[in-house]
Amino acid sequence: IEPLLGHERFDFLHYDVTNYLHVEGELDAILHFASPASPADFERLPIQILKVGSIGTHKALGLAKAKGARFLLASTSECYGDPLVSPQPETYFGNVNPVGIRGVYDEATRFAEAMTMAYHRHHGVEVRIVRIFNTFGPRMQLDDGRAIPNFFTQALRGEDVTVYGDGSQTRSICYVEDLVEGLWRLLNCDYTGPVNIGSQAEISMFDLAKKIIELCGSESKIIHKDLPADDPKVRRPDITLAREKLGWEAQIPADEGLRRTHEYFVEALKARESGG
Ligand code: UDP
Repeated sequence: IEPLLGHERFDFLHYDVTNYLHVEGELDAILHFASPASPADFERLPIQILKVGSIGTHKALGLAKAKGARFLLASTSECYGDPLVSPQPETYFGNVNPVGIRGVYDEATRFAEAMTMAYHRHHGVEVRIVRIFNTFGPRMQLDDGRAIPNFFTQALRGEDVTVYGDGSQTRSICYVEDLVEGLWRLLNCDYTGPVNIGSQAEISMFDLAKKIIELCGSESKIIHKDLPADDPKVRRPDITLAREKLGWEAQIPADEGLRRTHEYFVEALKARESGG
């Protein structure tokens, strides 16, 4: 999307997926990951998120149809909104506020799922849908705005660590290598419907903040800020389907993933502070 192109956080974008997409030659598969996904972006880029999830998904599906390519949609646990059941199975329809600040991402992705299934049913496009739960690891942006990058940058700089609300809300954190393995297995399997990919390592945000401060050997204090509207109170995937269809579950313990991520943030902050 044009407004994103000059944006330092999105300068890796080469295509405006909301316009007609043309790619030379044959394509085996199209993996549609084109959306900002940090809650901080829901207020920074609301219209772009809606456009990329709706018009962008339409264009990417059009390309898949034209090329006879398999299409994988990166959907999200946000489809479940602030869930009233936990853990969340794929059969749960969710509890989403369409007009809240998170609605731009939740509804764009729910629309993207509907569009993907319509192309499958109506045009026979082979599709896969992954509902990605909280994922972390090296190469996250320092200013991403999500909990794990915030906690690391704050703790390493000795700044106050910002926990929103009382910090009792939970997330299940999956190391990026595990996620990638799950995506690869899903792309190559023969199952159409949505599949949750996420870890079972459910932790409260207060405990996560404490753990990251400790890992950084930091003196930072935890401070509490207002909980954003519609912030989910719990989030944990039911991964029965991923186990059955893909033989997948997360292998890397959260503590090991956090240790590797800590190493990355130490280096990334050094590079940032020396102007690199
Ligand atoms: N959060 C927090 N401090 C921060 C950033 C986020 O306490 O500096 C909380 C946020 O309110 C949410 C949880 O951490 O309850 C996970 O937020 P994140 O932005 O990582 O993604 P989400 O899972 O909400 O999409």
